[in-house]
Amino acid sequence: MKENFYTQLTTQSLAGKPLSPATCQKILSSKETELLPLLNATFEVRRKSFGKKVKIHIINNVQNGYCRENCKYCAQSASSHAPIQEYAMKSDEEIMEEAKNAYEKGAARYCMVFSGKGPTWERIKHVAELVKEIKTKFPMEVCVSPGIIDDDMALLLKKAGLNRINHNLNTSRRHYKKICTSHTYDDRLETLAAAKKAQLQICSGVIIGMGEEASDIIEMASTLQSLKIASIPVNFFMPIEGLALKSKPKLTPEDCLRILCLFRLCNPLAEIRVAAGRELYLRHLEPLAFYPANSLFMDGYLNVKGRPRLETLQMIKDAGFTIESDFALDDLITKEKNFLKNRLPNQTIKMFLKTIRDLRPTKESSGE
Ligand code: SF4
Repeated sequence: MKENFYTQLTTQSLAGKPLSPATCQKILSSKETELLPLLNATFEVRRKSFGKKVKIHIINNVQNGYCRENCKYCAQSASSHAPIQEYAMKSDEEIMEEAKNAYEKGAARYCMVFSGKGPTWERIKHVAELVKEIKTKFPMEVCVSPGIIDDDMALLLKKAGLNRINHNLNTSRRHYKKICTSHTYDDRLETLAAAKKAQLQICSGVIIGMGEEASDIIEMASTLQSLKIASIPVNFFMPIEGLALKSKPKLTPEDCLRILCLFRLCNPLAEIRVAAGRELYLRHLEPLAFYPANSLFMDGYLNVKGRPRLETLQMIKDAGFTIESDFALDDLITKEKNFLKNRLPNQTIKMFLKTIRDLRPTKESSGE
């Protein structure tokens, strides 16, 4: 086939060659770069490593709020007035029960997220014990988002059987001080270095829509590529009432898809996750996100609800994709339908017939 801009993107990405800033800029915003050929070119890269499989992640706020840091985008920060439900660390029984539920809902990976700058040594020993127990009981991967940790802490978690550490870069080095001043971008890089040294897989992602420029997005995608990050959640900032950050992103569904394509093309082997904000910004184009992305969060985000489980599972199926899980997608869909039928007998999907007002709106209003 004759090489054109799109086939060149695929070839260059699959060869692991970094894309130039000018090419990245074309992906993000050039009118000459059409969305559908771009998605198609990106899908070729996604398919090579991940076929048509989608990984489902379920997140658990093991501890919520009570954080003294000032990350402006975070509802749990000291600078936020968002009315969230704060609590100290959940009991071991509660965490184990939630891990079981996540496994049975089809999660390939269970993510435990802690609020706060970083854990104490006592806390990390406790988390390591929990990781051991979850890994013994449920055949799924476990990820922990503990905040800032050092080499010894990372090693202890690795020895406990942890698969992955999450620690997001969130934005570019240039933009970082505008969203957080209580710890630095380098603090974050050091945690990633500790995780790498312990040979843990690394999950590190971004939040788009916090007032950054296109050049910042390009820098984030290439920084994550140079760090060889295994998993990249791409979040879109959700302007929750009460947050210190007052940004109101004007992201269109097309913007979000182009951004996801950029992260995939720059990171051909990474798990690219369409994360928080997918429902809010992608709207009817959400299923197209599976062309660049191969994973998602189900059951909502840290403090914001997401699309109901059944809708997420059905969307994966309707888009022609399948899931990476011990359970079949069709079985999970049936299970969810039964669950909803038993719990909400009057809320199964119904077809409502149009009324005369719907059918003849002008006639109704003209009073004939
Ligand atoms: S992102 Fe983490 S460290 Fe920052 S405010 Fe939120 S909970 Fe605290």
